[in-house]
Amino acid sequence: GVYLKIYNDGVGNNLVETLPMERHWTGVWFVEILRSLDGYFYTFTYEFSSQKEETIDIYAKACGVNGERGAIVDFSTTNPEGWDKDADPHAGNSIVDAVIYELHVRDLSVDESSGIQNKGKFLGLIETGTKNSQGISTGLDHMVNLGITHLHILPSYDYGSVDESKLDTPQFNWGYDPQNYGVPEGSYSSDPFNGTVRIKELKSLIQAYAKAGIGIILDVVFNHVRDGLYMSLGTSVPGYFYRIEGYSGAGEDTASEREMFRKFMIDTLSFWLKEYKLSGFRFDLMGLHDTDTMNAISKALKNIRKDVLLYGEGWQMYNAGKMVPATQVNAAKMPDIGHFNDAIRCAIKGPVFNDQEPGFIHNGNRKEALKFGIVGAVEHPDIEYSKVEGTAAATPWTETTWTSVNYTEIHDNITLNDKLHLVEENKPEEYYDQLQKMAISLILLSEGMPILHAGMEFCRTKEIPQQILDTKEEFYDVGWSSDKKHAYLRNTYNITDKINNLDWKRCEEKYDVVTYVQELISLRKQHAAFRLSTGKQVRECLSFIDNKKAGLTEQVLAWQLDGTKCGDSWEKIIIIANPFGSDAKYQLPEAGNKHWSLITDGSHFINDDSNPTYQLDSGSVFNIRPKTVTIFAIK
Ligand code: CA
Repeated sequence: GVYLKIYNDGVGNNLVETLPMERHWTGVWFVEILRSLDGYFYTFTYEFSSQKEETIDIYAKACGVNGERGAIVDFSTTNPEGWDKDADPHAGNSIVDAVIYELHVRDLSVDESSGIQNKGKFLGLIETGTKNSQGISTGLDHMVNLGITHLHILPSYDYGSVDESKLDTPQFNWGYDPQNYGVPEGSYSSDPFNGTVRIKELKSLIQAYAKAGIGIILDVVFNHVRDGLYMSLGTSVPGYFYRIEGYSGAGEDTASEREMFRKFMIDTLSFWLKEYKLSGFRFDLMGLHDTDTMNAISKALKNIRKDVLLYGEGWQMYNAGKMVPATQVNAAKMPDIGHFNDAIRCAIKGPVFNDQEPGFIHNGNRKEALKFGIVGAVEHPDIEYSKVEGTAAATPWTETTWTSVNYTEIHDNITLNDKLHLVEENKPEEYYDQLQKMAISLILLSEGMPILHAGMEFCRTKEIPQQILDTKEEFYDVGWSSDKKHAYLRNTYNITDKINNLDWKRCEEKYDVVTYVQELISLRKQHAAFRLSTGKQVRECLSFIDNKKAGLTEQVLAWQLDGTKCGDSWEKIIIIANPFGSDAKYQLPEAGNKHWSLITDGSHFINDDSNPTYQLDSGSVFNIRPKTVTIFAIK
């Protein structure tokens, strides 16, 4: 049989009553209670032939501390004031309008320099008017100034690795160890013991961002459960929800191909999308799910919200042959799902699995892989697909550009700044800042869906501070400089706030880069040419420049966008990326009776029309400076 147990609290010895449940002919167990149980907590006890298991409801929507018992909550009381009236945070008209920013909830606020009061909390993300000691805007204001359209937050459903009852002791985790899929994480709330507080506070966050025109995307980890055998999915229906084969390397892999786990995913995601007014989901290790499930999810969620953003890690990991995995290779089978593009990630800065190996910005390496990202992984006649390195699927993915989630830094692996320091050692800081601008330019000027890692706009580093290095503590997964004086962490999922937090002093030091990223985002938003959505449009409007014909040196990468063909306010745009240490001479092509305008020299946007380089005649020769992505346009 199955029993419902009602408790006074989320933990402890305070059972109120035990009620036997009945089995309906459909297979659903139920019990009818004709009084309000608002504020109580509950569990289910499943009686199997040899044992009894008491566990939290796998469908729990609220819970007590550490997610041990479900909380009974009247959801109408969880809405912040104005919730129903507020506009949904639809950002932009099309998926390609999105500029996504990936952030861990704690990282934004936890450092002293943030000037934020609710450190490490959902509420810390919504404080406005916060500044560092030098008066630089931090937190929400910083993101609004930057111009992002979506904030993608690392797992913020209830996870297990942080003890919510001991929040006074230092704890940090990315949260890729799901505990309760339908409930927000308690350690990010001001009171994890209360069933409604975490819900209310997450909703307040979503509301505040909606008001700022920013949608929230939740990172979801349905592919595995740590210690799965002992958690609700494992104890409720032993053996059913997990595969025998394990590829995640992080506990039990779930079985999306099984009917009731597929339904569980669809139901849970639909609930989040509707109840919390989210804008989308990022699927962790999506290659462990199957294509049918991802399509069923997309169909169900699009019925709730037409412009929902769905993307994930379509890595090849699954080899058991019992389902069709949701990978890049099978992207065409899931036209509504985006995939992180590892080809462009590694093309820009060099591969993530070899700290010293250079990428395009260092020496012109991996040019075809970069082009593959620039076109948004669609079919294009100027790309030699056999030379596209760094992805399991070096063929056109789909006919929509946003299937390609373009990035070069994310929470995983070494940061861009740190990789730059390992590939080219002992250069002046300004040199690295320039490479940072170049790398981010390539992401934001590519067709597809761009995503930035929080803090990369101020050259985020995960270098181990000298005083910690001096303690000779053991660190694993570290990239060392060749003189062994600098060590950079690759995987900081459970490392202290000290390494993970955003350093707002650094934001101030690197404000020149911040401003540049701001300008790039604004340029992208203003010009349709950078936001083409179909392969057809890309082939019509975007072409790579033949270096020989244009008199450019070989490794320079140049492309042009025909603005008149894609509804852009500019007639023509030329983008030239020079990875060399010396100038590349470029003769500007015919501009009819108009002029070419220099939009940016790769270091600064030229906003001042009295600048002598603001207007250039056809045929004039311009020196493309080293390590820049320079942009010209006919306005
Ligand atoms: Ca938790």
